[in-house]
Amino acid sequence: MLLFRKKQDLIPHLSTLRSAGRSSGFIPTMGALHAGHISLLQAARSKCGYSVTSIFVNPTQFNDPEDLAKYPRPIEKDIDLLEQNGCDVLYLPDPEDIYGNEPLVRAHFALGALATRLEGASRPGHFDGVAQVVKILLGIVQPDLMFLGQKDYQQVLILRKLIAQLSLPVAVYMCPIVREPDGLAMSSRNGRLSPSLRKSAPVIFRALQCAVREYRKIPEKEILQQAREMIEAEKDFHVDYFQLLDAETLGPPTDDAGNAIAITAVLAGNVRLLDNMLIPAPK
Ligand code: AMP
Repeated sequence: MLLFRKKQDLIPHLSTLRSAGRSSGFIPTMGALHAGHISLLQAARSKCGYSVTSIFVNPTQFNDPEDLAKYPRPIEKDIDLLEQNGCDVLYLPDPEDIYGNEPLVRAHFALGALATRLEGASRPGHFDGVAQVVKILLGIVQPDLMFLGQKDYQQVLILRKLIAQLSLPVAVYMCPIVREPDGLAMSSRNGRLSPSLRKSAPVIFRALQCAVREYRKIPEKEILQQAREMIEAEKDFHVDYFQLLDAETLGPPTDDAGNAIAITAVLAGNVRLLDNMLIPAPK
């Protein structure tokens, strides 16, 4: 694996690979890598001629300075893991390589209602920061395919919209959520859970499973109330949102013909856990 810290070195290398006719798969990450990230790398390796992973903890997508400061950065371990899993290129920039020397300013994008609900409501400006960094990274890497996790489902829809708005020549491939054996969605933040919060955390998975099972069988209001009660029965668990939505728009489900999604954000102590499950349209 080749490691680049500067875009001025990375860009010519990628351009040589591109002119040799090899297709590229890009996996943007914030590091603290786990099997979920590695599944994106594996998908990229199976579909593309070479893989480029980036690790960059992007300051403009954080609202809470403490969350940014506490974000785990086990960089040596990450490098080993990428190497063991056959990553071709790692881009590991510092903020200056991405944003230059100017003081950091969060850019604004016209992403519409999609960016202001769910995560956008709880973390105003978060998706502007995500769009800002991904636009810059796509400009540097210029991949054919970008691999994103369903774990951050709203982010996938936002980035698809950004790519369409800017007519960027990249396709998005969404990979399924990788879970721990007890059902908890893998996340770089799971390591911040105390042993007792970690033990309770699979309740989120179970609540989603119940919601999916009951969808279209009992009224949505009842499903949502049950899910909330189930999760909040665990000590120090607080549901930020638990919703049943149209999977294309993340608006209210319009009819029975489309795909739906059960989607949630839960605070376990002060650790924010996201999860979701897609509900296919009935045949
Ligand atoms: P992050 O490092 O948290 O910004 O995540 C980088 C990418 O990995 C995003 O596209 C995430 O959706 C994806 N990802 C994170 N956790 C998982 C998981 N458990 N399963 C699949 N993809 C994941």
